Amino acid sequence: MIFIKKIFRKIRNLGGRHGSPEGLVILMYHRINDNLPAHNLVTRTKAFAEQMRFLCWHANVCRVISLKEFETGHPAIFGQEPKTKIIITFDDGYRDNYLNAFPVLKKFGFPATVFLTTGLIGTDQKFNRYADLPGRDMLDWTEVAKMYAHKIAFGAHTASHPHLPRFSYQTQREEIAESRACVNKNLPPGERLDTFCYPYGEYNADTLKIVQELGFRYALSVIPGVNKPETPLFELRRIEVSGFDTIKNFEYKLLEKYR
Ligand SMILES: [Zn+2]
Repeated sequence: MIFIKKIFRKIRNLGGRHGSPEGLVILMYHRINDNLPAHNLVTRTKAFAEQMRFLCWHANVCRVISLKEFETGHPAIFGQEPKTKIIITFDDGYRDNYLNAFPVLKKFGFPATVFLTTGLIGTDQKFNRYADLPGRDMLDWTEVAKMYAHKIAFGAHTASHPHLPRFSYQTQREEIAESRACVNKNLPPGERLDTFCYPYGEYNADTLKIVQELGFRYALSVIPGVNKPETPLFELRRIEVSGFDTIKNFEYKLLEKYR
């Protein structure tokens, strides 16, 4: 009973202190992993679970929505209560998203979206910085299907994760179109990919043109911030959750830092 009272006091305090400021917070994760050294891109499973528990307890202040809910509800979704909406995203398509993040997301019933570097999915190839890790490091399509069956959506993040602005219009187009086609081919028919995610958050005028030509309606950058109705649709802001964030930091980033 005391425990429950404590939780309610915590929720009330949080609501009172911050209210629910208007805005869409798109959280950016990469890896949920307990074997790699601490890093911006690597969050421990325990810390991730604590962050998800925070979102669950404070659902009256910040509500987790799916990317699809945003895509189909934009821009009216901004006016709905609570004012702060949260979308959970993972970049690249690491296998630890399935092994470590997925059980936690399932437990809390939270939707999330994973942006796949499609050329690496189902292969033994690794990102250079993780070349020494033993075994397969990226998701395969069986794992993707299992996650897809439980509220996890998938998006395109190019075929080979290039620094897009360094390449010609044609090469950029091939990279983006190929990853879009690959995700579409591997997901149930009818799945629409409306949102693209730029590798390294990098894009130029060609990239912006291509994503629109290919039919995307939104794209995610790594510009830190909270999205408002007027935020450019192909430069949506994200907030990176670092492996060094304490739960206090997490709360601060979510509700105060970028307001
Ligand atoms: Zn990436």
